[in-house]
Parts: sequence; structure tokens; C-alpha cells
Amino acid sequence: MEKETYISKHDIIEILKKDDFSDIVKQADYIRRENVGEEVHLRGICEFSNFCRKDCLYCGLRKSNKKIPRYRMSPEEILRTAVLIDKHGIKTIVLQSGEDIWFTKKILTKLIEDIKTHTDLAVTLSIGERSFDEYKVFKDAGADRYLLRFETSNENLFKKLHPDDDYHERLKCLQWFSDLGYQVGSGCMIGLPGQTIKDIADDILFIKKWNFHMVGAGPYISNDDTPLSGSKNGNFSIVQKFIALVRILCPKVLLPATTAMDILRSDAREIILQSGANVVMPNITPQKYKQNYRLYPDKPCIGEDPITCRYCMENRVKKIGRKIAQDHGHSLISIREK
Ligand code: SAH
Ligand code: SF4
Repeated sequence: MEKETYISKHDIIEILKKDDFSDIVKQADYIRRENVGEEVHLRGICEFSNFCRKDCLYCGLRKSNKKIPRYRMSPEEILRTAVLIDKHGIKTIVLQSGEDIWFTKKILTKLIEDIKTHTDLAVTLSIGERSFDEYKVFKDAGADRYLLRFETSNENLFKKLHPDDDYHERLKCLQWFSDLGYQVGSGCMIGLPGQTIKDIADDILFIKKWNFHMVGAGPYISNDDTPLSGSKNGNFSIVQKFIALVRILCPKVLLPATTAMDILRSDAREIILQSGANVVMPNITPQKYKQNYRLYPDKPCIGEDPITCRYCMENRVKKIGRKIAQDHGHSLISIREK
């Protein structure tokens, strides 16, 4: 059942400001059930390198941060991790890293091909901005999906936060993914320093307009190893309302309860799964590396090995009466309307 809902910017702002928003959450949970069912999709995230050539102001992996030890998994180690999670019933690997150009076109192409040969996994790339040619070669090698957040749809704020990036380049990349036939994931941070409620409403409308296959959005978490040290974390209620509104406006979207939410409260992901979300991303990075993939501080579950993390997520999902999907969980949105 696909039902288009229209909510004006004015109404979105009013909802984002509301203290009592249980009706919106109920509506989102209903729309989620009707459109994408009770299943929750697991996406195993492998944070394979924390080297980054960029200096995004909010992020602990930024190149100017000398306080984290840098690591890089070898392609063999990444492949072994992929084989391991495949055996444990995870159907997607998300290969995520800083913008690390040690991983050349050639190395990544071979890695994608190897994962596709040795496992039954869907492959999502989340490695930042690259050339059209690279994106094309990775797609041809078998990559299924690409995740690149627009971070904020406020062009001025984007500029302030990204000394190395151009807003229009970012949008161009998102268009390329679509043209190349990737399932496209994008999203933003909620509660960034300098971001207003109006900006957040614009982000929701931007998501609706682009009709992404997947929307990964989570709170901004203040990181003392960055120039934004001392700023406030995103607000949990606003995050919850954001997710509910995205589900209401994009009924078939794949919508994760993202890791950063757990920083705000320990039962965050359960609440978000009951507010419209239908995806969780267990961290399957080998334990020795995990603690140094420090986008923000106090990341949850860094003491856990990949398989513990996978089954912990399954238990959390089952406790709220939902079940883990057994298929690849490809997008149900086949035709992109823009
Ligand atoms: N380098 C890649 C992938 C790694 S960063 C890229 O930038 O796309 C993955 C995501 O982490 C970013 O898109 C950003 O939204 C999020 N992130 C970084 N720092 C954060 C912080 N302090 N709080 C919350 N999310 C953060
Ligand atoms: Fe690098 Fe991504 Fe962090 Fe920016 S957000 S500094 S590109 S890891």
C-alpha cells in the first residue's frame, strides 16, 4: 500500500516544536507496518579505515585530529570479516571509512569482486566522495548501494562545516549514484551547531524531494577532538520526530535506527524502531579497531566482537516483537520520481 502524504513546511516545523507528539509516532509506526512490514534489516557495518584526507569540522576522523591512532584493515581482513558475517545471517556489508585514498580504484574493485565471489552479501559503499569513473567501476564490480549523507541541506551551513567540500559537488555525487543504478542512501545530522528548526524541516523536505532508497539520519554528537568542541548534542525528541516524519512522507524508504542515537539514551534504537525505522546496523568491525573509529566520543558497544554485536541487535529487535529479515532487504522503491 503506497499512500502519499503531504505535510507543509509550516506543519513540519510545528511538529518538530511539539512536546506531545505521540500521535505522529503512532501514525509513523502504522505506515511502517503497512508499507514495509514487521521485518528489521541488519546491515553489518565494517569501519575498515579511519584515515581521512578531509577536515569536516564535526568529525573525529578529520585529518587534523592527531589524538586518534590511525588504522587500516587489509583487504584480506575485510574479506574475512565479510565471510564471517555471511555465515551469521547478515545479508549486507556496509564498507565504511574516512576518505582514504590508499584504497585505490584497483584495490577496492578487487575487494568488491572478492566479497561478491565468496559471499552472498549485498555490498554498500560509504567511503565519501570519489570520481564518476570510480563510482562506475565499483558498481560494475558488484557494489549494490552507496551511502553518502548530504549532512545538511543548508548550503551556508554545509560550507562552514566542510572546508574541503562543495555542496553542489555533493549533490552531483548523489545524482551520479542514481544514474549508475545504485540504491542510494543519504541523510543528515540533526542538531548541528548553527542548525535551526527551519533547517531541519528543510532537510526533511529535501529527503522527500530526492526520494532516496535509504535515509540514514542521526543526532549530531559533540566531539572534543574537533573545532566544535563544547557544542551541544542533538536532541532525542527531535530525532524521534524527524524519523517519524520521514516515514510518513516516504512510506517505503529503508530507515535505520542509527548508532549515534544510542549515545542519547540506551533504549534509543528500540524507540526509533517503533517510530518508523526498519533497519539496524550492527557494528562488525573487528574489536581491536572499533575504538579508534571515533567519529564522536562514547560510541556504544566498542567492547563487543562483531558476532556478539549481531546477536545483541537481534535480541533487541525481538524484545519489541519484531523479527529479523532473512532476505537482502533491497529497496522497494524501484522507480525514482524526481
Ligand atoms: N567518510 C565518509 C564515511 C564516514 S563518516 C563520509 O563522510 O561520507 C560517516 C558519517 O558520520 C558522516 O556522514 C556524518 O554524518 C557522521 N558523523 C561524523 N561525525 C559525527 C558527529 N560528531 N556526530 C554525529 N555523526 C557524525
Ligand atoms: Fe572524513 Fe567522513 Fe569524517 Fe568528513 S565525515 S572527516 S569525510 S570521515
